Amino acid sequence: MAERIRIEEGGKLSVPDRVVIPYIQGDGVGVDITPAMQLVVDAAVSKAYGGGRSIEWLELLAGEKAKERTGEYLPEDTVEAIREHVVAIKGPLTTPVGGGIRSLNVALRQLLDLYSCVRPVKWYGQGSPIKRPELVDYVIWRENTDDVYIGIEWPAGSAEAKRLLDFLRGELGVPKEKLPDDASIGIKPASEEKSKRHIRKALRWALENGRRVATLMHKGNIQKFTEGYFSRWGYEVAAEPEFQGRVITEEELSQRYEGDMERAKAEGYKLLLNDRIADNMFQQLLTRTGDYDVIIAMNLNGDYISDAAAGLVGGLGLAPGANIGDGYAVFEATHGTAPKYAGKDKVNPGSLILSAAFMLDYLGWKEAARLIEEGLRRTLAERIGTYDLVREWKKEGIEGHEVPCSAFARAIVDHM
Ligand code: NAP
Repeated sequence: MAERIRIEEGGKLSVPDRVVIPYIQGDGVGVDITPAMQLVVDAAVSKAYGGGRSIEWLELLAGEKAKERTGEYLPEDTVEAIREHVVAIKGPLTTPVGGGIRSLNVALRQLLDLYSCVRPVKWYGQGSPIKRPELVDYVIWRENTDDVYIGIEWPAGSAEAKRLLDFLRGELGVPKEKLPDDASIGIKPASEEKSKRHIRKALRWALENGRRVATLMHKGNIQKFTEGYFSRWGYEVAAEPEFQGRVITEEELSQRYEGDMERAKAEGYKLLLNDRIADNMFQQLLTRTGDYDVIIAMNLNGDYISDAAAGLVGGLGLAPGANIGDGYAVFEATHGTAPKYAGKDKVNPGSLILSAAFMLDYLGWKEAARLIEEGLRRTLAERIGTYDLVREWKKEGIEGHEVPCSAFARAIVDHM
């Protein structure tokens, strides 16, 4: 009998060999990519563990399917079931227009306090606009609950904006030329507790997964007390006892080992921690592509850099994602519902398939995750791909063999 995942004391997951994983099919192309993902995951788990481990899929309703059957876009039962089963995977969901919920994805993140959005970005052989895409292997950790995304802002000319302007000028002495009457005003909070739990989780993950470097991305040269403090709090986290002797800062590395990470490693250090100003970070992904690894960012910078990095390896078709909190995690395709392709067995299921591979990693089923990655790599090496992959190869003068969504999934299985 399949069982649930549990969160043990100290936050570690206890994953049974026969595990129940809830899934949300998703709207639009969800009907195409979700079965494709399940086919690949089941095959990988079976191949890796020969029947010793398996997944029992439990369908949960959300989005349009839920609205039709229950009258609600995000039924309470769905949120409860994810909480109960700890880990889930979802297809894309339509953002209801004019409904009570701003976005189902945002609602899920808030209800489960999934405070880190994690995006692995890696090259598997897809078309790419850069010369050396094989150097791209990033995992971007974007904070999910803080920063300008809290949506506290007022339009220019509103009574609220006016009151706030009066307060800022009158009580806090901000000069009028900095805050003219026609300014819209938004609030950007950077909280120590929210930043630190996010950075702590990212550093733990980096260590557990044998990564080389973690980079705090920020705009602290200008926004000193928000972005700047994010970076400062990052170094404070790295100085906590659990990271001592394992995480070394760039400054320490230069002072004690003349910048030689191999010497630091000989003394037990595993991970280098540095920080980069956001604008520099963008150009360095292009000019020093291989220097970066785990990138830890606040919400807005993380949003920008996630898509920019995905662009280095040909866009969102093969970009997996997850939203992670304290144990709880929801893995998802990063693209939307692509409604014009819904039910046509056409789109690329790779984003959801790689999200599932990331989920298997999260469960500790690493052998199955590697099989999926290898199957994908070999399929792409033979230039078998969905329309989008073939289109990108064509730009490089490479002739691809176009297959439907389901056949692409089968090809990945055949190439494991
Ligand atoms: P989208 O659904 O991501 O589609 C935009 C375009 O991206 C598609 O027309 C297609 O481009 C390409 N694309 C997307 N998924 C693909 C795949 N699996 N394989 C190949 N190509 C793919 O973005 P949208 O049209 O802006 O959004 C549609 C709906 O999705 C909205 O309701 C939005 O709110 C929602 N959405 C949901 C999520 C989520 O659930 N996480 C995320 C984003 C958007 P070509 O036609 O050029 O090939």
